[in-house]
Amino acid sequence: MRVLGLETTCDETAAAVVELGPDGGGRILSNEVFSQIAEHAAYGGVVPEIAARAHVEVLDRLVARALADAKVEMAEIDGIAAAAGPGLIGGVIVGLTTAKALALVAGKPLIAVNHLEAHALTARLTDGLAFPYLLLLASGGHTQLVAVRGVGDYVRLGTTIDDAIGEAFDKTAKMLGLPYPGGPEVERQAAHGNPDRFALPRPMIGRPKPDFSLSGLKTAVRLEAERIAPLSATDVADLCASFQAAIVDVVVDRTRAALRSFRDRAGHPTALVVAGGVAANQAIRRGLQRLATESGLKLVTPPAALCTDNGAMIAWAGLERLRLGLTDDLTAPARARWPLDTTAEPVNGRA
Ligand code: ATP
Ligand code: MG
Ligand code: FE
Repeated sequence: MRVLGLETTCDETAAAVVELGPDGGGRILSNEVFSQIAEHAAYGGVVPEIAARAHVEVLDRLVARALADAKVEMAEIDGIAAAAGPGLIGGVIVGLTTAKALALVAGKPLIAVNHLEAHALTARLTDGLAFPYLLLLASGGHTQLVAVRGVGDYVRLGTTIDDAIGEAFDKTAKMLGLPYPGGPEVERQAAHGNPDRFALPRPMIGRPKPDFSLSGLKTAVRLEAERIAPLSATDVADLCASFQAAIVDVVVDRTRAALRSFRDRAGHPTALVVAGGVAANQAIRRGLQRLATESGLKLVTPPAALCTDNGAMIAWAGLERLRLGLTDDLTAPARARWPLDTTAEPVNGRA
């Protein structure tokens, strides 16, 4: 069984072919990604209109390349999957409509995949994980702690009430005059900064419900920066290091709280999985590794190319659904919002 997957919900245009192996695991036959970061860098963030236009320009070429790289013809594909949301609606429409056209012309089933579900199931593609497991999804647009109990069976244990973790990194970087995307840049600066110089808050720590709130932390960095302005290179590095240390403490504490509520909702997890662009951060990984060790769990971090937005995760989620007979018809809606816990429910219009 082989599925072609399309991803266009944000600033990556991607197409991939994934095959179901004889052992029940997945094999990535091709994985094409076009990153639009350069197009958006001048604006310090993703511009939805520019993103949608760029998806239109490159998607058909990427699909052709994904098939060519995989050395398969359309006739050898068993299903066409696209991320149908959540995301920037213009881009979602480009990918979903392309998938519908391909499905119609080639006479293949369509699978409308929830982008968050694709992130959630990636660890099964990379590590063959069994259900249930705890997922921390941390990217520029999402911060969620999810009990992954089965395909289409997700319990969102906690989320952010304001900024996403990646967004907090990006906004802090911008404030300190660092280039976009800010996450990797803040991490680089933090590597030679003093994490104890600024006493920044650790919002939400100790609360039983594993939610996040990060806008106050970002404001605290701004106030410190204003207090000591003009900033020297050392000041910037120390602010980044102090900010990152606060984020690590928050992430570890919130994930620990999620592990506690996980046991009531889903039993004993097989692993702790961290995905999303923020999973690239080594300090956060080290913090989560300590937590996993203390909890007797395996920490699973899929490779960066499969943690950030990509087509292989959409193809894999499509494959997981297709083999359970979960396909969609051509009326499947593009959805700007689509909470993960409603993925299993029938879709009547917008979520
Ligand atoms: P979505 O939220 O829809 O998945 P996205 O494009 O924001 O879309 P990703 O591409 O997965 O998500 O991740 C990008 C985010 O990850 C950015 O906010 C970026 O700053 C952050 N990020 C990347 N590398 C690091 C790092 N080393 N440390 C911290 N944050 C990072
Ligand atoms: Mg991205
Ligand atoms: Fe994503």
